[in-house]
Amino acid sequence: MADLLSIDEALERTLARARPLEGEQVPPEGGVGRVLAEPALAAIDLPPFPSSAMDGFALRAADAPSTLSVVARIAAGRPTGRPLAPGEAAAIATGGVVPDGADAVVPVEYVVEHDNSVEIPAPVDVGANVRPRGGDVRAGEVVLPAGARLGPAQIGALAAAGVAVVTCARRPRAALLTTGTELRRAGEPLSPGQIYESNGPMLEAQLRSAGADVEQLPPVEDDPAAHRHALERALEADVVVTSGGVSVGPHDLVRGIEADLGVEEVFWRVAVKPGKPISFGVRGATLVFGLPGNPVSSLVGFELFVRPALAALQGAADPGPDFEAGRLATSLRRNPARDELVRARRTTGEDGSRLDPLGGQESHMIVRAAAANALVLVPRGDGELAAGETVRYLRLPS
Ligand code: AMP
Ligand code: MG
Repeated sequence: MADLLSIDEALERTLARARPLEGEQVPPEGGVGRVLAEPALAAIDLPPFPSSAMDGFALRAADAPSTLSVVARIAAGRPTGRPLAPGEAAAIATGGVVPDGADAVVPVEYVVEHDNSVEIPAPVDVGANVRPRGGDVRAGEVVLPAGARLGPAQIGALAAAGVAVVTCARRPRAALLTTGTELRRAGEPLSPGQIYESNGPMLEAQLRSAGADVEQLPPVEDDPAAHRHALERALEADVVVTSGGVSVGPHDLVRGIEADLGVEEVFWRVAVKPGKPISFGVRGATLVFGLPGNPVSSLVGFELFVRPALAALQGAADPGPDFEAGRLATSLRRNPARDELVRARRTTGEDGSRLDPLGGQESHMIVRAAAANALVLVPRGDGELAAGETVRYLRLPS
């Protein structure tokens, strides 16, 4: 057992093989989670013109305080072509173009309006309530650097700066194959000895949430020909994820048949609980993950190794897994030989995250695991982690 790879070693070997895929041009909309392969540059100055930050009156600051004649009414999107002369003001809406000649806007709350004039009772600072042209970004400047991940704010920023297409690594194509003679899909009747197949739907959701395009192949029985046929097809993808059949039993066929098909094994078995029999190999640029069939082993193995690999393929500078710090609510016994990922419920209090380990930690207990939103890393060793101790945990995606 002592010679099993650690999580970190296994992760390092995985990420060393996960090179970013080639770039493609895509619209930022709908690209949440994608990573820029090249910097995105502003197409325009933003704001594109000096713009009013308030509903009020545009004027020359030097004219205040005084009564000015109102010569125009400017709405957003409806500029006046005419510059403002001394002694003049223009009513202006938020987002309206501040006319040439004007250098300040006085909010409507601070003036006294008459029919065609406005009384400005107090002095006004130059630039007050005017958003200068290019104050957010200038044309040609970087809106987002290479490596930036697109979230809602980033997508909004690109749109505002007139960026209609960006270059991102293309989405990885993932093939998903579950193995096991005993497996049936929910909705079908179960015969004796059969169970419902849960890794297929779960891993498909995980793969999609990690940005992959997924092809789920029909589950295969523990039969060499069926495995070979399905794996040949799966190996055309960028990433192959299998579930089941990577342990030491006579029906565990995945690794042997992958080897026959030219998959070079990088590692098999990691000092982790659950998920010890996980395998990883490559064929050319294709990454091949063999997740153990126990549902929680598949869930955890994916978060530890497959999700970071998918992030790296998509160009993420820091692909994870993204461990955070929190406080353990109850003590936990350590496993002497393997690092353990304990399913827990994370809640946030004033002093940060609190992690309550859940009952039912066995690797087949996917329903118990479904109550968790975090995986607490319990490093292998003797004794226990005490309640209140700071630990590292991974969030489970919701
Ligand atoms: P294996 O890794 O193939 O030895 O499977 C380990 C355990 O996980 C066995 O109890 C299997 O029945 C179960 N199992 C394997 N694949 C799946 C799956 N796709 N969904 C749910 N359970 C599975
Ligand atoms: Mg099996």
